[in-house]
Amino acid sequence: MDKLKIVVLGAGPAGLSCAWKLAEAGYEVVVLEKEDQVGGICRTIRRGDYLFDLGGHRFITKDEELGRVIQELMADELLTTPRKSVIRLRGKYFQYPLELKNLFFNMDKLFLIESMCDYIYSVVSKRLLNKQDASFEDWVVNRFGRALYNVYFGVYTEKLWGISPKQISADWAAQRISLLNLWDVLTRLAGKESNRPKTYALEFAYPKAGIGRISDRMREEIEKNGGKIILGAKVNKIFLDDVKIKKVGYQHGGELKDISADWIVSSIPINEFIGSMDPAPRPEYAQAAKAMRFRAVRFLNLIVDAEEVTDNTWMYIPEKSFLFFRIQEPKNWSRASAPAGKTSLILEIACNPGDEIATAPEEIIFDRCKKDLDKLGLFDTSKIREYFTTYVEHGYPIYDLTYKDKVAGATRLLKSISNLVPIGRQGLFRYNNMDHSIKMGFLAAEHILHGGMETRIFSIASESVAFEIEKNLEKRI
Ligand SMILES: Cc1cc2nc3c(=O)[nH]c(=O)nc-3n(C[C@H](O)[C@H](O)[C@H](O)COP(=O)(O)OP(=O)(O)OC[C@H]3O[C@@H](n4cnc5c(N)ncnc54)[C@H](O)[C@@H]3O)c2cc1C
Repeated sequence: MDKLKIVVLGAGPAGLSCAWKLAEAGYEVVVLEKEDQVGGICRTIRRGDYLFDLGGHRFITKDEELGRVIQELMADELLTTPRKSVIRLRGKYFQYPLELKNLFFNMDKLFLIESMCDYIYSVVSKRLLNKQDASFEDWVVNRFGRALYNVYFGVYTEKLWGISPKQISADWAAQRISLLNLWDVLTRLAGKESNRPKTYALEFAYPKAGIGRISDRMREEIEKNGGKIILGAKVNKIFLDDVKIKKVGYQHGGELKDISADWIVSSIPINEFIGSMDPAPRPEYAQAAKAMRFRAVRFLNLIVDAEEVTDNTWMYIPEKSFLFFRIQEPKNWSRASAPAGKTSLILEIACNPGDEIATAPEEIIFDRCKKDLDKLGLFDTSKIREYFTTYVEHGYPIYDLTYKDKVAGATRLLKSISNLVPIGRQGLFRYNNMDHSIKMGFLAAEHILHGGMETRIFSIASESVAFEIEKNLEKRI
């Protein structure tokens, strides 16, 4: 019997892990990737002797089997990096997770009292009045109180998403904030470590040469097993023949090409996939797909003539007056990220595709961020030797108040295509981490390996199975 042919759209962790397992099993695999490098959002950019992720990416997982597979794949390349994060609140830095001494000596006492009163009021009133969580704002205020919402959760979230937290689904808070309530904080502050919430992984795995090495290693395995990865190949047409994908059209080297396969595994953005369907789907599907939006991120990467700027892995800057929402120093992730005696920084700036931040010339972004860095006073900014920006268009799927209906509609449409397996963060419009995407890739491969008989092709795309995967894994940052 002829080998089955599989075309994988997108060479991020999801697409690569699927292609790896299928190539290893002897299938004919072709991966189409629009960029000139594999890794998707988890790739690492080299600039001379410096390495920059698209925002530092840690690898964590609760799935032991998955952890073992990645450990084996990476052999001695994986470091164990301690996590050291701080949050800037009201002009002061607080360690995250919160520490009693740090909190007590740094936070103004009136605010501490206000937060506690607010917290008690919100917990009691939620119970008595049976308050519902219609939005992210409700979810947080009902659990943490208004004061903490105003000073941290509300401002940070609005800065990251670019929309009011009243317009963001409460699901997002429930999934992202595993700090269940202030009682957790208080018990931890009292020294009860057993209550440490799951998001507080205090160390994580990180490849010496940047997160992109995990994808590079998968690429090596795919190619070793005869799989083909075509870089610079932008998928722009999905030709359908009733309920089947007949062929995939893509642009490569200035030419329009197409390819057909027994199975198509898609990790490209779900809205782009639907928008590329030919014939076009019914208008309600096309409209729902159009309304599924992603938040973009622009990164300002700085090379600094200094040994070190901070000893943190992450610094969260929620205040609106600063352009960036997070700062990372790659050297604190791996010493190999910068040469001896030098360091580098990544500033993360949330924006929307096509807006003034996404499109501003690099020097405008740099000038604005330099002023903000001077305000922070972390280091002498005259020591910045070089800068450049990088960009991720599909950074965060936006979970607005109607996202569930849109995802359900889009999923129904994709389910009707018999030789399609949608996976990954963009492919499923799921706010997931790289380990989840890798796992989805493995599940998609397994589905195809089992001849599509398990009908898991559709359940992989369903909320319940995706959540099921998550339940076993480390919660997201
Ligand atoms: C700022 C930031 C920080 C993060 N930090 C962490 C972290 O610390 N740890 C963690 O585990 N996760 C983190 N994540 C999440 C992580 O990046 C994603 O979960 C992961 O990249 C998803 O992998 P994927 O393969 O599903 O999607 P992607 O990585 O997005 O891959 C999709 C691929 O499809 C390609 N593609 C898109 N359109 C087309 C087209 N038309 N034709 C061909 N190819 C196309 C893209 O170029 C890309 O390579 C972070 C995300 C962001 C935005």
